[in-house]
Amino acid sequence: MLRQTCRDFAEKELMPLAAQLDKEHRFPAEQVKKMGGLGLLAMDVPEEYKGAGLDYLAYSIAVEEISRGCASTGVIISVNNSLYLGPILKFGSEEQKHKWIAPFTGGEKIGCFALSEPGNGSDAGAASTVARLDGDEWVLNGTKAWITNAWDASATVVFATTDKSLKHKGISAFLVPMPTAGLSLGKKEDKLGIRASSTANLIFEDCRIPKANLLGQLGMGFKIAMQTLDAGRIGIASQALGIAQAALDCAVDYAEKRMAFGSPITKLQAVQFKLADMAVALEGARLLTWRAAMLKDNGKPFTKEAAMAKLAASEAATAIAHQAIQILGGMGYVTEMPAERHYRDARITEIYEGTSEIQRLVIAGQLLKAYRS
Ligand SMILES: Cc1cc2nc3c(=O)[nH]c(=O)nc-3n(C[C@H](O)[C@H](O)[C@H](O)COP(=O)(O)OP(=O)(O)OC[C@H]3O[C@@H](n4cnc5c(N)ncnc54)[C@H](O)[C@@H]3O)c2cc1C
Repeated sequence: MLRQTCRDFAEKELMPLAAQLDKEHRFPAEQVKKMGGLGLLAMDVPEEYKGAGLDYLAYSIAVEEISRGCASTGVIISVNNSLYLGPILKFGSEEQKHKWIAPFTGGEKIGCFALSEPGNGSDAGAASTVARLDGDEWVLNGTKAWITNAWDASATVVFATTDKSLKHKGISAFLVPMPTAGLSLGKKEDKLGIRASSTANLIFEDCRIPKANLLGQLGMGFKIAMQTLDAGRIGIASQALGIAQAALDCAVDYAEKRMAFGSPITKLQAVQFKLADMAVALEGARLLTWRAAMLKDNGKPFTKEAAMAKLAASEAATAIAHQAIQILGGMGYVTEMPAERHYRDARITEIYEGTSEIQRLVIAGQLLKAYRS
């Protein structure tokens, strides 16, 4: 039922608009509000904090269907669900949960997650943004880079160090309202894909927030970030599945109608083999993603499985979108058809929330840890 609801919404509200949103780099404010009404902004948040009270398998299915309609919209809701609400739900005090979760569930307000910096992305433990306690306030200084939803967000979870000598153990997480004095936004990045979602720097210059805005314990920030990304990777894997499915759908539909040498090109075995390989890669990645989501839902460890899902789904999305363009020939290369957008949108899934190289490091690390224990 959830899949059908999301599919209907995506086909009616997102697919017809996606090319325009992409072209104009426009945030889909109205659609985000409607998705809030459907419960898609806070899917695994319990009802007492105004969430939908569902689970991560449901979340994965929803993000896939929404991303099939519009990949930018997929990441907008994925960041709100996994990266903003996720850590507050898991590590926030009761008071913080009521204050920072409930207003971000209905689609009027969305949040963001600020970990990366201009000088460090994969090496997140090298954070140089500083938080200093001054009486009853934290004072933040530094720049966070590449922040999804930055221009459209009303709050951020931000990571800053309170003691550089402790390296990653000196990092803490903080809750910052947006806008707020001492926090400015960088320019909107002009991106290859997911262009309807805003991406920008967050610049902190003597930005003062109450002492009570520390999320979790002092020095726990790196752990909060890593655990948040474990869950977030299920969201990005699901976004990649949606993009891949859209690319495959587009290729099948076109190939059935395109005539060459007297028949539709689906009569050609070379085209059939491409479609078969695309379908296998997609279905395998989907099963990995659902497995990771179900492990999380059952309270089991899922770090390795989430990394596997994200790696498989993102690489499948890139490969499938590549082949979709090949099947469309010249029509794959122009904006009249959505294949070129799927190709551009797919590429980011191999980069954010940990590059493919970082996923391989996580998987190998977990594998070897299990072998050696
Ligand atoms: C559109 C977009 C949206 C984003 N949204 C957010 C967001 O909302 N919040 C946020 O905090 N960040 C966000 N990011 C940042 C993103 O997570 C980083 O870009 C990503 O983690 C890679 O970091 P980097 O760009 O600094 O690359 P680097 O870390 O400099 O990596 C460069 C290359 O080196 C490789 N590499 C680095 N270290 C290793 C290693 N140990 N082993 C093997 N290879 C390695 C990488 O895989 C990559 O190929 C976003 C980025 C983009 C482009």
